[in-house]
This record gives sequence, structure tokens and C-alpha cells, in this order.
Amino acid sequence: MIEIEKLQKGAQIGAGQVCIAPACGARFKLNERLYVCPSCGGLLDVTLGLSADADPERLRAVWTRRLASFDARDRSGVWRYRELLPFTDDAPIVTLAEGNTPLYDAPVSAAYCGLNTLTLKHQGCNPTGSFKDTGMTTAVTQAVILGATTVVCASTGNTAASLAAYAARAHLQCAILVPRGQISHNKLAQSLDYGAAVLELDGNFDDAMRVIRELAEDESIYLVNSINPFRIVGQKTVAAELLHQRDWSVPDHVVVPGGNLGNSSAFGKGFKELKELGLIDRLPRLSVVQAEGAAPFANLFGSESDVLIPIEHPQTLATAIKIGVPVSWQKALRAVVESGGSVLSVSEQEIADAKAIIGRDGVGCEPASATTVAGIKRLVADGVIGSDTDVVAVLTGHILKDTDYAINYHQGKLYTHDRAPGKTKEERRLAGNYNNPPARVKSTKAAILEGLRRHEQKHLGDL
Ligand SMILES: [Zn+2]
Repeated sequence: MIEIEKLQKGAQIGAGQVCIAPACGARFKLNERLYVCPSCGGLLDVTLGLSADADPERLRAVWTRRLASFDARDRSGVWRYRELLPFTDDAPIVTLAEGNTPLYDAPVSAAYCGLNTLTLKHQGCNPTGSFKDTGMTTAVTQAVILGATTVVCASTGNTAASLAAYAARAHLQCAILVPRGQISHNKLAQSLDYGAAVLELDGNFDDAMRVIRELAEDESIYLVNSINPFRIVGQKTVAAELLHQRDWSVPDHVVVPGGNLGNSSAFGKGFKELKELGLIDRLPRLSVVQAEGAAPFANLFGSESDVLIPIEHPQTLATAIKIGVPVSWQKALRAVVESGGSVLSVSEQEIADAKAIIGRDGVGCEPASATTVAGIKRLVADGVIGSDTDVVAVLTGHILKDTDYAINYHQGKLYTHDRAPGKTKEERRLAGNYNNPPARVKSTKAAILEGLRRHEQKHLGDL
């Protein structure tokens, strides 16, 4: 273990927070309580200085050995890869055994996309049902290190549920700030159970953000919003876990949903650092898929401009990616461009159908996650991805995060939010192309067998 200790000491040399704005590049110490660059307002990146010390073979062996360990740090799919994290060995880690999410072979989804094989990395199998946990374990650990007593975020979604759980683990007070009347039920239920103070504010999301900035001036309060660089630090370990599960065989293409773009930024950073460490010799292409009504990043990618134009009123039923101003777009753009990937958007109908198809592989996800399979189908049809390409789709949230959506799709009651004048309700209804509505039958053996026959008949033509 001497080498590992040496490596961890090495990790502290050159480690810090760096402004990503090329014209600035200001550097700050790891434990300075910052959210954005104090010089220019740019996003911060947490860097490690360990490439000189790293021995890829030894790292692989250590990480594999930890799979059989009962140490809480080794059981976590994030802290198992702690040589990649900017924390010392005695850091007071806050963990729920996050990560460790499955890689599924998905033949039904592959056939739907026109691929020979397709693999799903299901981040929805994290403790609170979304990928946010892999970043929350590190961000809340940093909150403890900084001596915060209260953690705060403005969200009603997966971030809030995740923060509430990790705050409870750390015995920190947790405040979830939301504009009144904008509460998503499945996720709110989690925040309430985990004991967070859910505070509904008068005003809109901008008002909530303004209050948050004022709160951040208080030393006892730590903000865990998307700009917090210590979330990306944990999320990037998913790249290591994914490759470890594949015995370090690099996929050709990794496809992620795009909302706030923290996830794509984290994958980009993760793959890049693993390449710098010599653990892999090439980067997979990283592509991002957005929903058409909330696609500022796809619009930017398809234009000549290098500045993202916000979408004022983003619209999509995939609420986890209903974001008009993605905070991490610069980091994500860098990751996509460096890897030779692409950015695209898909329709509400494509998302709904892809979600039902993923379900047929026995894998349940929330709507935002299904943008990946919808996007891959499009990329294969357009010839960007060949049928024999080795593709991994990253699912970000569990099906139980949005049960109304699934029920409505299968019962033909799923309507888009599109309120364009002249569109009737019927025109806004999404077709249940792969729907599976429940059927009422008499309680006799014959009726049940007939019900089964009809069910089979209905789904014969699905694929
Ligand atoms: Zn700066």
C-alpha cells in the first residue's frame, strides 16, 4: 500500500480549484469556500496533480481488490476510486454506498435503435434513484470539511432528494428552496421523508436564486447547486466505474441526456483524467441528447455561435432536463468537442416511445433518461453511428421518479405542454405506440387465458 499512500500525497500537490475561463485561469486552494471564480465569475474546476505518480496497473489492481472489501469507502462506487478525488485519507466522508450501478445488455433497445448491441449504465439505481448521489456524496463531504451546519439548494427535483438524503446522513440541516406551486410530487416525497426543510418562496426561480446568493454569504451555509465544483468531482468517478465494469475496454460512444449538463461535463472530465493517468488510451465519443423544447445546448452545437442562447420557457415532460440555461454548458461543450461527439435533440414522442422500449428490456427509467435511446436511434438512422458500434447509454433516473408519466403513456393520456395557439388537446396527445394498458377481465381461467392471448397479440408487432 506504500505506493498508494505516495500517490495520495501526490494528489495533494497541484490539487486545487481552477477557473475554466481561458482568459482568466485563476487558481484557488481546495478548501476555499467558492462556487464561481471570484475574479471573473467563471465556473471552477477541481484539479488533481497526480499523473506523475500514477501507476495504471497498480490502480486497476487496488480498485479491483476493493470490490471484495467491507470497508465503507470501498463499498461506495465513488470512494472506491478515491485516488481520483481531492480528499485526504482521513476525510469525514458522507456515503450511502452510492454508485455500484449496473451495466445492462439491452437487446430490445439495441434492435429498436438499429444496433447489434447496446449497453445501459443505469445511474437511476443509486440510493435516492438518480445519478445526483454520486456528486452529492463528495459535495456534502466538502460541506462537512468546511464546517457548514446547513446545506441549501434550489430545486424540487433529483438534486433536492439527493441533497436531503446526504444531509440527513451527515446530520446537517438541509433547506430546499422552491418557488411556490412548482413542486414535483415523487421527488418532494423523498425530500420530506429525509427530513429536509422544504421552503416554498413567493416569487419565481430567479427570486429563489437571488435569495440563495445572499444566503451564501453566511459562513455556516454551504450551497450545493449545480455550479458547485465538488459535485462534478464525485460524478466523474462514474467514468471509472463504467470502464472498470468493462475491464477497461473503452466503448466507442457514450450517450447522456442533457439538462444542466453537469453529467456530460463530469463524464468528459472523468474520461480525460483516466486517459491522462494511462488507464485508457483513447476517449469514447461523448454525445448529449436534449428534449426539443429545452435544447439550448443542441441549438448552440448546430450553430456558428460560441455563446449559448437561453431558452426562456423550456418545455418538456422530461422534467429532469427541463432547463433553459444549463449552467455547465462550457464544460460540456469542451467535453463533446474534444471527444468528437455530437449534440442533438429529440421530440416528446420519441422520448415517450424510447422509454417504453427500455422498459421492455426490464429496465425502468424516468423520461429524461430515455432521450439517450431516442437520440441513438436518430444517430444510427443518420449514419453517425454504425450498427456495429459499441455504445453505452447512460440512464440518469429511476422509473419511480415519475410514475404519472408512465401511467399516462400506457393509458393514452399523455399530453405535451405545448400550448401553441390553434393546437387542440387531441393534437397535443402523445401516441402510445408501445403502450401496454391494463385490461379488465372476469375472474375465470378462460377469461384470463383469453386476456393473455390478446396481450400477446397486441404486442406482436411492437418490434
Ligand atoms: Zn476566472
